Amino acid sequence: MELRLDGRIALITGASSGFGAHFARLLVREGARVVIGARRTDRIAALADELGDAALAVAMDVNDEASIIAAYDAAEARFGTVDTVIANAGIAVGGRSTELPASDVATVVATNFTGLYLTAREGAKRMISAGFRDSERGRIVLIGSITAELTGQGESAYAAIKAGVAHLGRQFAREWVRQGVNVNTIQPGYIQTEIAGDWFQTEGGARQVAAFHRHRLCPIDALDAPLVFLCSDASRYITGSTITVDDGQVL
Ligand code: NDP
Repeated sequence: MELRLDGRIALITGASSGFGAHFARLLVREGARVVIGARRTDRIAALADELGDAALAVAMDVNDEASIIAAYDAAEARFGTVDTVIANAGIAVGGRSTELPASDVATVVATNFTGLYLTAREGAKRMISAGFRDSERGRIVLIGSITAELTGQGESAYAAIKAGVAHLGRQFAREWVRQGVNVNTIQPGYIQTEIAGDWFQTEGGARQVAAFHRHRLCPIDALDAPLVFLCSDASRYITGSTITVDDGQVL
């Protein structure tokens, strides 16, 4: 199977912590060169130092299209056309819908939807201009969430936007199906990262984990095999799919 990522040039948003930093290390281990973007530039600079010549850190705010375009320009200047995009940057806002400030709703839409949209489409535009139609090499992975499949108290805007991400993935996949660009969504379950803060160490968080069928959080490396597969040549015939990786939490 063609699962190695040698020769691939990947752009990863939200690479300053959590999944994004983990994915950067994983993709380099699997042979790719990575462009790692986020707003906390000290963190991505340290990660790029750790990863050596295979990594380039770029300041990136997905709420600002000019910064997304500049990141792709920097990626191209250093490595060549990005053929693999992991649109991962995201924030969480919580609180009852009756109380959530309008500014929080706007921020979660801007980062988790518009920012992801602009990141994916900038990558696709460049892959299409570079002639990926023939090589069928383009891979875009959107990071959604199992909250897309759940209802709960206090996650309405975040969860609904993540449902939008999964459908956006199908729409993009349809639009670029003849252009050699595959688009798929991974929907992770609950995994300890900075996004949840210390929630899982609280009584409420412990109750939530106890209620999962397997009474545990999902480990971050549960995402490794699906991600590498979706970035690889082996997933040539898979586009418009949503893969849930949640240890059965949503069942
Ligand atoms: P983290 O909080 O650790 O990481 C979030 C990342 O997003 C950070 O690197 C942050 O970087 C970046 N980010 C936020 N806003 C922006 C912005 N405007 N521009 C660029 N980067 C931004 O959380 P996770 O790693 O857990 O989250 C990654 C993705 O996974 C998110 O989309 C989240 O919704 C999703 N997810 C997480 C789950 C979990 O249980 N952990 C479950 C399901 C989905 P910086 O602040 O430096 O810009």
